[in-house]
Amino acid sequence: MTARSGPAGSVERMPHTPVDQIPGIVSGMRYGFGLGVTRPESWRRTQLQRLRALLLERGADFERALFADLGKSGTEAQLTEIGFLVAEIDHALAKLSAWMRPKRAGVPLAVQPAAARITPDPLGVVLVIAPWNYPLMLALSPVVGALAAGNAVVVKPSELAPATSELIARLVPDVIDRRAFSVVEGGVPETTALLAERFDHIFYTGNGRVGRIVARAAAEHLTPITLELGGKSPVYVDDSVPLAEAAKRIAWGKYMNAGQTCVAPDYVLGSADVLGRLAPLLAGAIRDLYGSAIDRNPDYGRIVTDAQFERLVGYLGDGQVLVGGGRDAATRYLEPTVLGGVDRGSAVMRDEIFGPILPLVEVDGLDDAIGFVSGRDKPLAAYVFSDDQAVRRRWERETSSGALNFGVPVLHLVAPDLPFGGVGESGMGAYHGERSFQVFSHQKAVLSKPLSPDTLAATIMPPFTKAKDGLVRQYLRKLL
Ligand code: NAD
Repeated sequence: MTARSGPAGSVERMPHTPVDQIPGIVSGMRYGFGLGVTRPESWRRTQLQRLRALLLERGADFERALFADLGKSGTEAQLTEIGFLVAEIDHALAKLSAWMRPKRAGVPLAVQPAAARITPDPLGVVLVIAPWNYPLMLALSPVVGALAAGNAVVVKPSELAPATSELIARLVPDVIDRRAFSVVEGGVPETTALLAERFDHIFYTGNGRVGRIVARAAAEHLTPITLELGGKSPVYVDDSVPLAEAAKRIAWGKYMNAGQTCVAPDYVLGSADVLGRLAPLLAGAIRDLYGSAIDRNPDYGRIVTDAQFERLVGYLGDGQVLVGGGRDAATRYLEPTVLGGVDRGSAVMRDEIFGPILPLVEVDGLDDAIGFVSGRDKPLAAYVFSDDQAVRRRWERETSSGALNFGVPVLHLVAPDLPFGGVGESGMGAYHGERSFQVFSHQKAVLSKPLSPDTLAATIMPPFTKAKDGLVRQYLRKLL
């Protein structure tokens, strides 16, 4: 056990699952899955309903844990973690029957008469590895999809959000069938032990360095993976939009969870004129959102660890502090900050910031902005504030990112029909809504052909008579 102090100065224990128990936990899940208990729709519904009830009944405990880990306010915890999960479960419960239903598929002439369908099959035992920034939501949101799809699940919450990890490990196995659900707690040694086991899917959310470790480990077992990674999500603003409104939305997306959001705006691109007008409007928007004594405002979060705090403070020298810059290392408080005069090659423009620092980067028109974004790793999201349709079209056609939003950051992730995921360095695979169900399902092809009439002998089976040869040569394209 190791200890660490939380935002309120409390000391929390960091629990670990004994590494030597991990192979047994995974084989227990495989045994549970093999029993077939997870397959019936009724089982899946029961698990989701129980998880939903737990989130509502123990909401205050989850809020407390999220406050201990990240100084997260109760309202933000409800909005972005607990309530988000409840809404996701409700959607899954409403749609589950339709998702599970086999879908008819067409068959070519040469195969007819026959019927074909696609049947979603559970994959088996899946592993979910979660990060610390939305430690409840990002641990359990993939679990919702995995259970809906009828899998057994091992979830490994982040050790950097120990209060939430402990609560998940203590409460969730009491409501979900233990034959098909378990929580492994810990950090690198425990995750390494898990990754040595064979899973039928690994769903990893976190940074690209560990994403590569996961991908290498998965390759050993030919296990399919989903990698939900991060990156620098750009914002582009031009003068066709009301800048005060744009500033408010950018500030909201940036400073929620103290900037520790994978799809937070990372930096803003704009002309010197637009950025010059935007900076004071961002200052006003921050005041509107969090008041003037932000360090005493319970709605504003804290940086997760001392190491992350030090990393972020290091970026403050990469530009001129136009707004904010205040900090307190003891409570890991870092004020919402805007940096101007930032060099494109500086550290704050190389790394994903993942904290409440927003660099404003001057560009020489739209071509320069698009070229800047296209010349770098593909981001998880890009945000464009422009009412010029030609500008919007160019961003949509000429840039690649996990998502592209016009006029608002972050919100794409609450639309269950939109795939949520990255591309290139920002990840592979996507989830939410039905895609979460599909990620954890195998789309099994099922074909059924009556033994009579024996159409195959008369058309495509040897012996190849002259008539069949003629048929194949003449109609092959129409037959298949
Ligand atoms: P983290 O440090 O909590 O790590 C994530 C998980 O990886 C943890 O469970 C941790 O135990 C495990 N891990 C760490 N080192 C490991 C190792 N060497 N071997 C095996 N497992 C290991 O979280 P993080 O990576 O700092 O999270 C922040 C990153 O995640 C950012 O880049 C952010 O953009 C990204 N992110 C992406 C999404 C998304 O949905 N795409 C969501 C949240 C965060």
